[in-house]
Amino acid sequence: MSKGKVWLVGAGPGDASLITVKGLHCIRHAEVLVHDRLVNPELIACAPADCKIINVGKTPNHHPVPQEEINAILVKYAAEGKNVVRLKGGDPYVFGRGGEEAESLAENGLDFEVIPGISSSIGGLAYAGIPVTHRDHASSFHVVTGHMCQGNEPQNWNALAALNGTLVILMGMTRLAEISQLLIDGGKSPDTPAAVVMYASQQRQQVVTATLATLPEEAARHKLHPPALIVVGNVVNLHQILAFAATQIDITQEAPLEAAS
Ligand code: SAH
Repeated sequence: MSKGKVWLVGAGPGDASLITVKGLHCIRHAEVLVHDRLVNPELIACAPADCKIINVGKTPNHHPVPQEEINAILVKYAAEGKNVVRLKGGDPYVFGRGGEEAESLAENGLDFEVIPGISSSIGGLAYAGIPVTHRDHASSFHVVTGHMCQGNEPQNWNALAALNGTLVILMGMTRLAEISQLLIDGGKSPDTPAAVVMYASQQRQQVVTATLATLPEEAARHKLHPPALIVVGNVVNLHQILAFAATQIDITQEAPLEAAS
């Protein structure tokens, strides 16, 4: 049997039309599609009618499928000779554990390819009218996780507080008050502009701006919850003038791409 292949595809932050042309092409030719919970259903609807769809974001008892099991699913179908699309939110290599999946495929001698996606950490902010860098406001940006893995070193919040660039925190909502305090304790001004962007790039997107000190209270008042981005830095002020209404494109209605010869 000929060997299959796995495409690790970045789905983008939420708006389905932000997927790459190459990513959409792979979905339209997938035999097996393995996707996360955050992936837009419109993208899944672009798979062929006979494609096997596997949701690893949630099992019937609401627990995500363990990473080893996801790796095993990818290995199994690729070894059976299938074209497998592993569709992941944002970019596959930005906090998506895509690196571990690719390692497992490499260890098993299977073909794979990565199709980068627009990460919520950059593109999601753009949809909220927040440019991640700006000549007058930020000359660097730092994307960190607010989530602590067991056994991992905690983030060096003092070092992050000392940086002048834009700070983007993913997976930080459950610890928002603690993170805000850690940054202030590390020397960041409590008056630094800060925001939470929930459901970035989706029609239900919500942006709440505040200061580093008041953000936890404001986020709670607006009942903000994951998936959301926390952003700290002067670029947040640009939201007032740079917020825009995004054009909606129905990708399921677009003409299918030609099959690869
Ligand atoms: N690979 C993804 C990140 C995966 S980690 C990427 O590149 O975007 C999951 C975290 O990403 C979420 O907890 C949240 O902090 C952030 N996130 C992903 N999609 C988001 C969205 N549409 N709006 C806000 N935050 C999002």
